[in-house]
Amino acid sequence: MAGPKALVAGNWKMNGLTPQLKEVRLLADMLKGVRLGCDVMVCPPATLIRPVVQLLGSSRIKVGGQDCHAAAAGAFTGDISAEMLEDAGCTAVIVGHSERRTRLCETDAIVRAKAEAARRAGLSAIICIGETLEQRESGRTLEIVSGQLAGSLPAGFGSADTVIAYEPVWAIGTGRTPTTGQVEEVHRQIRRDLIEMAGEERGSSVRILYGGSVKPDNAAELLGGDNVDGALVGGASLKAADFIGIIKAYA
Ligand code: PEP
Repeated sequence: MAGPKALVAGNWKMNGLTPQLKEVRLLADMLKGVRLGCDVMVCPPATLIRPVVQLLGSSRIKVGGQDCHAAAAGAFTGDISAEMLEDAGCTAVIVGHSERRTRLCETDAIVRAKAEAARRAGLSAIICIGETLEQRESGRTLEIVSGQLAGSLPAGFGSADTVIAYEPVWAIGTGRTPTTGQVEEVHRQIRRDLIEMAGEERGSSVRILYGGSVKPDNAAELLGGDNVDGALVGGASLKAADFIGIIKAYA
């Protein structure tokens, strides 16, 4: 059975002022008329979501948020709800990024509540999971990843509302990457867990992305394994030329 259609999503993190919009324009121009072998998404900071959505117009490039609050509205100064992201033109939102899990102490339960909020608002949740270097070195990678997955997934999840991003914490922004075999081992386990939780059909249809130092020159190798249904890209998504180099792994 063919796997789900791949997705290459760019996470700009807290990067991007108005001049960064020219990279989106460039990306849209470069992809015009190109036969895409994957879906493409950019996740700009909240301040740039609306201009990016406007700039992309009817382009095939989708727009996502980087985080959302679990509530639809309320007294949560500085936060942004899934409904607000949807209203601004997003179709997805990243939840549980390791930078938020670590620095902002986001637990699996918080991540699950955010994923539920995304579904309530009609967004797809890109749920990030992954082990630290210490956890990998102590042989606990699969146990950690399975635990985060079970704790973060909303009940009744499916491919329309859920994407998993496996992001080893030690590979994010470091230039260090796992071997293809290591990526495949974890993705195989995630697929097994998804099928166990949701059944063969639903569990097989959820996309599992790899994230962590994906660059144009390592994309084909990192993303070529079984059960690797695309990439969540940080640094290399900021320049259209680099991002396209990764998208081309699916040409
Ligand atoms: C990320 O932050 O999701 C990420 C994968 O970052 P980078 O590609 O820069 O390692």
